[in-house]
Amino acid sequence: MPFNETTAENLSSLHTRDLQSVWHPFTPLHDNTKVLPLSGAKGVYLHTTDGRKILDAISSWWVNLHGHSHEYIAKAIYKQAFTLEHVIFAGFTHEPAVRLAERLLEILPANQDKVFYSDNGSTAVEVALKMAFQYWHNQGISKKKVIAMDGSYHGDTFGAMSVGDRSMFITPFVPYLFDVEFIPFPGKETSHSVIHTFTQLASSGEVAAFIYEPLIQGAAGMRMYPPEVLNPLLTIAKEHQIICIADEVMTGFGRTGKLFTSQYCAVQPDIMCLSKGLTGGTMALGVTTCTAEVMRPYRSDDLMKTFFHGHSFTANPIACAAANASLDLLMTEECQQNIRRITGKHLAFLNEIAQHSQVLDARAMGTILAIEVKTSADTSYFNEVRNSLYDFFMARNILLRPLGNIVYVLPPYVITNDELDIIYKAILELLNKS
Ligand SMILES: *Cc1c(COP(=O)(O)O)cnc(C)c1O
Repeated sequence: MPFNETTAENLSSLHTRDLQSVWHPFTPLHDNTKVLPLSGAKGVYLHTTDGRKILDAISSWWVNLHGHSHEYIAKAIYKQAFTLEHVIFAGFTHEPAVRLAERLLEILPANQDKVFYSDNGSTAVEVALKMAFQYWHNQGISKKKVIAMDGSYHGDTFGAMSVGDRSMFITPFVPYLFDVEFIPFPGKETSHSVIHTFTQLASSGEVAAFIYEPLIQGAAGMRMYPPEVLNPLLTIAKEHQIICIADEVMTGFGRTGKLFTSQYCAVQPDIMCLSKGLTGGTMALGVTTCTAEVMRPYRSDDLMKTFFHGHSFTANPIACAAANASLDLLMTEECQQNIRRITGKHLAFLNEIAQHSQVLDARAMGTILAIEVKTSADTSYFNEVRNSLYDFFMARNILLRPLGNIVYVLPPYVITNDELDIIYKAILELLNKS
């Protein structure tokens, strides 16, 4: 039996076979003819079966840190698969999970005390919400409200959708979501009124939790707001004993310049959600961390105060081994320097285009660069602009997946200056052509 089935014939028919048997995420069924078959990926490049090399400028849905098919992480995965591939995590433990928890707690904000494992970003958020709700339930305190922010995205499962913006994506599910109080997104002129609205909601005494994407909303279009707004919100929340949940699924692991974006803030969250970059983008793994105070009402002889939540693959040893290997790479001076280098390059390009007549707004934070391109049409994810922008860059062998008219660059940290320049040049070409 052949070990590797990726023969030439299989690859050539891959597209046809895919069309017949696979349903892709966020892809209209009539549109999946555009799905590209890959034979592999290495570093910052995706290799298509017909020989194209596509520059992955968005880290494959914001997950990849060190480049594709990284040898060091691959070896760690291989080694772990031969040692302990999986075990039920209720009643058992293992080195990769314990080591990863220890190392995360070392680099996370100092108030974080324990690590709870799950499978992805959405489950990390579900765990955070349930942890917060049961924190109150275990104490017999009735607090049922949740505060979230307009434009927020926390995942595609029901709890995560409930605390997310009621966007067009989730219209069919809205009747099944729980109620959430949304505060407006703090713009430059509105931050004062946002803080005022938040204070009023918080004062009701009924708010269990506040969930937020710290300083940058990813799916909303890489929208940024300063610590000067978030700090007072967190301070007010703490004054009213509201559990603060930082969703760092996208922003964690150096993405915004610091290891975690909460580290830009003066006030730290009670619960944090991590995924995406956790394994360097190689395997699905989610983490929810919390303070000792969040666990306090769970420490009880009463069995019913246990946190009854778990997934079949909780703390999968192979995924944990991948995460440990990714952390090894992330903490090297070389990687930290790459993050600073990309940050500097982004800022220089930002200056270059900020005044361009086709640029509505341009912003950057760490390794993330976002440009709102002027278009005649409405600026929404669904307008044709997104498709034409996607195609424009794809024709130049660059993977950028604009959110509406917002083009953003979010590269693996190993991208070179020359490769960044290729991306910038294509963006300039786009701006100059319109
Ligand atoms: C991607 C994302 C999620 C959901 O993570 P999945 O792994 O896709 O379930 C949650 N929160 C934020 C901020 C994200 O960017």
